Amino acid sequence: MQKAKRVLVVGAGPGGLTAAMILGKRGCEVEVFEKQPQVGGRNARVTLNNFHFDLGPTFLMLKEVLDKVFAEAGAKSEKLLRFKRLEPMYRLQFDDRRMEPTTDCEAMKQEIARCFPGRENTCERFLAREGARFARLYPCLERPYHKLSSMLSLNLLKALPHLALGKSLYDLLNGYFTDPKLSLSFTFQAKYLGMSPWECPGLFAIIPYIEHHFGIYHVFGGLNRISEKMAEIATANGVKLHLNTPVRQLLLDGRSVRGVVLQDGREVTGDEVIINADFAHAMCNLVPTGVLRKYSPERLKKKRFSCSTFMLYLGVNKIYPMPHHTIVFAKDYRKNVDEIFNGGVFSEDFSFYVHNPSITDDSLAPAGQSAVYILVPCTNLRGKVDWTLEAADIRNRILDALENRGGMPDLRQHIVAEKMITPQNWQDDCNVYAGATFNLTHNFSQMLYLRPRNRFEELQHCWLVGGGTHPGSGLPTIYQSGLIVANLITGSN
Ligand SMILES: Cc1cc2nc3c(=O)[nH]c(=O)nc-3n(C[C@H](O)[C@H](O)[C@H](O)COP(=O)(O)OP(=O)(O)OC[C@H]3O[C@@H](n4cnc5c(N)ncnc54)[C@H](O)[C@@H]3O)c2cc1C
Repeated sequence: MQKAKRVLVVGAGPGGLTAAMILGKRGCEVEVFEKQPQVGGRNARVTLNNFHFDLGPTFLMLKEVLDKVFAEAGAKSEKLLRFKRLEPMYRLQFDDRRMEPTTDCEAMKQEIARCFPGRENTCERFLAREGARFARLYPCLERPYHKLSSMLSLNLLKALPHLALGKSLYDLLNGYFTDPKLSLSFTFQAKYLGMSPWECPGLFAIIPYIEHHFGIYHVFGGLNRISEKMAEIATANGVKLHLNTPVRQLLLDGRSVRGVVLQDGREVTGDEVIINADFAHAMCNLVPTGVLRKYSPERLKKKRFSCSTFMLYLGVNKIYPMPHHTIVFAKDYRKNVDEIFNGGVFSEDFSFYVHNPSITDDSLAPAGQSAVYILVPCTNLRGKVDWTLEAADIRNRILDALENRGGMPDLRQHIVAEKMITPQNWQDDCNVYAGATFNLTHNFSQMLYLRPRNRFEELQHCWLVGGGTHPGSGLPTIYQSGLIVANLITGSN
């Protein structure tokens, strides 16, 4: 009988857990090392007194990918988790109007007619055209690109006309919608990748399409429950999960990875090592100096990284009658975006996202109270802000904005628990390189074969999962990265 492959996984975020639970199911001997006391990484749970929050992801898209990876691990997501498809999906709050997009095409037409009279027929065109793009492009995200020849695959060749080369997401969709605010309603999703709609490649029109076609889901208890369940499935599949166990370095024999060195100095060997820790952080901290060429710390300085997020998690002793998700746009959204990505400053007039899940889910806070999370997209640590000096002032400005234009007029009086995370905290506490919460940007020069590859090109027996590798940042693509790596390691398709 063939000996089971020994696979070590650095990090129990969504990517690492996906790979671990599937490899465990397929008979590999898997050990996961996680530096934090809990699983989930950026998808972990935050608890303040009796209030429970998602640290990061709150939108579950393409639920079918989650269902697929659970099935690969021998589990059924519907049995283990309770989902709710949100309709309307979210509220978009502009300075002069607000829209609540829905996946019901007729209702969406009426909503566009109400907010942008005369443009109601644009939505059908968008769905038809972008549906075709999705059908061609999505299969390209399901496979690895570790060989140059993979760029000549039939799927990718068929997808070529759909790449919208030379067009930004905003340019492409403004072609249908023509009104700047309506166009923003279908392009702000570039922020899910931590990018500007004016720089994000047009092919990412598949993201608003995915929302409008497949919908957005909440998971009762928070999206962090997904990672918790994955850890349970992995353990049931024989995976050994070590919490509070940081990896200090990869154990190398030349350019071949033999295992890991733990923080306490212990060496653990394996046949294969999967890195789920933030890619750039791992390259700078887990690989001995001088080994890397393409992704050395010096070369990483020249790569492009996503924006960051300034976070407030608030336990509130009332429930605001606000939707589950609200995006509040800066009056001058383009200026705000430009200041995030080019100016490196925290805008006077900023956009923000309010997560108010207690309106849907009463398990997150004591009765009659709510767990509110605010996310403000902002410059990463390459910008000019000294977060230690400015955090308190920025927090106050965010609370002002919530009270004045965020639908929570008396918020300060009702806060009973609070936690703040700045870009500096993302880097220092969560090992996120440059506080760039959505990893390397998704420009053509950092995608597919040109993104750090699932079979890592710099080291042997080393594999990458998570937002920093192919197919990219965002839960469905991260789950897909875990499945791709599990397939490559076990030689499955
Ligand atoms: C604020 C925010 C909001 C987001 N919202 C959404 C959303 O709504 N929908 C969506 O689809 N995506 C969203 N994302 C993006 C993405 O889905 C998440 O960031 C996701 O958690 C990333 O998963 P990952 O597998 O790449 O790694 P991570 O979640 O970063 O996990 C990596 C793990 O590695 C561990 N680790 C690091 N270094 C070491 C070490 N040396 N030794 C051992 N362990 C180590 C970390 O502690 C962590 O647990 C959001 C991200 C953020 C930050």
